Amino acid sequence: MKNRYTQDKAASAEILRLALQKMPGHPAAFVPPTYAVWYEFLTGINPSLSEAMNKLLNGNELLTTEAAQELFNRYISEGDPGAQDAFRQDMQKLLDNLVKFAESTGSETDRFSASLQKYGENLSNKLDDPMLKNLVSEIVQDTQTMRGSVESLQGKLHESKSEVEKLQQELQNARSEALIDPLTGVFNRRGFEAQMKKLTSDPELRDKRVSFLMLDIDFFKKVNDTYGHLFGDKVIRGIATVLTSQVKGQDSVARMGGEEFAVILPDTPTKGAYAIAEHIRQSIERSRIRRLDKQEDVKGITISIGIADCDICGDWADAMSKADEALYASKTQGRNRTTLYAGAAANAAA
Ligand code: GH3
Ligand code: MG
Ligand code: MG
Repeated sequence: MKNRYTQDKAASAEILRLALQKMPGHPAAFVPPTYAVWYEFLTGINPSLSEAMNKLLNGNELLTTEAAQELFNRYISEGDPGAQDAFRQDMQKLLDNLVKFAESTGSETDRFSASLQKYGENLSNKLDDPMLKNLVSEIVQDTQTMRGSVESLQGKLHESKSEVEKLQQELQNARSEALIDPLTGVFNRRGFEAQMKKLTSDPELRDKRVSFLMLDIDFFKKVNDTYGHLFGDKVIRGIATVLTSQVKGQDSVARMGGEEFAVILPDTPTKGAYAIAEHIRQSIERSRIRRLDKQEDVKGITISIGIADCDICGDWADAMSKADEALYASKTQGRNRTTLYAGAAANAAA
């Protein structure tokens, strides 16, 4: 399983501090699975777990040892996503073969029983010998009985076919759910990768370039500390909404983890990407987010952005890490700004 605990000592110490504030208020024992649940919830790296925890906490329920263990089993130790994916693909292949088999068996048996029937009728019309006639009529009867069972087999195969199609649809739904971040409704990291796979195999985009924006909320820890984790979640959702509204066509938005987003801009030169990034940055800078409990608006939330590009079929993982480097430069140069990788002329500040 890919390591998802990438937080450094300082970041993890912050999470530990937050967890220590929360854990004593709940009856769950301080055993490793309980800490893992709090850790993943507070970092926000596990959206499904966050959703389950939010439900529990919003319902004013307390986290018991059993509940923590259950969340741990269900959302943390659920196994290797790569292996699950391979399993899903095998399953899909098996189902496809079964459907094909059902279809071909259906038409073969149809043809077979129709020709037997015709053959039997022809024979019985032409024969005079009573013994042979008897024999032929028995064959016809047997053929009809067989046809009956073939028909029932066919019916069963058709039933299985629609069952299989239903399963395929469910599988498809589960698949798209696995690609979407439940908090924001944009792609998650896996969705991002699936989207890249799709774009790189699009013949219309061949030879085109693709720009990537990497975005990270500024001083987000402070937002959480000042206004609470739930308000933090609202900020994350708000930013996803701004991102989605500012891109179009084949562009895609993904939440890559906690408070980090990526935007894919196919067939967009970095100059255009820079303009889009600045639009996004400025509209977030101008926005206000309502605190429902206090009936007041919070302003001054900003994001930093890094941009890099590559050929659509090129090394996009490398371009992403370049965009990440550019994002880091935006952070060190004071945040709330957009940086183009390799210090191009557009390296302007806010
Ligand atoms: P910087 O400007 O350097 O990015 O500062 P920062 O405070 O944003 O630093 P960092 O990226 O290390 O902190 C991210 C914080 O985001 C840590 C974690 O508590 C919080 N966080 C991550 N995911 C979620 C989430 O899903 N919901 C909420 N409310 N907070 C989250
Ligand atoms: Mg971050
Ligand atoms: Mg941040």
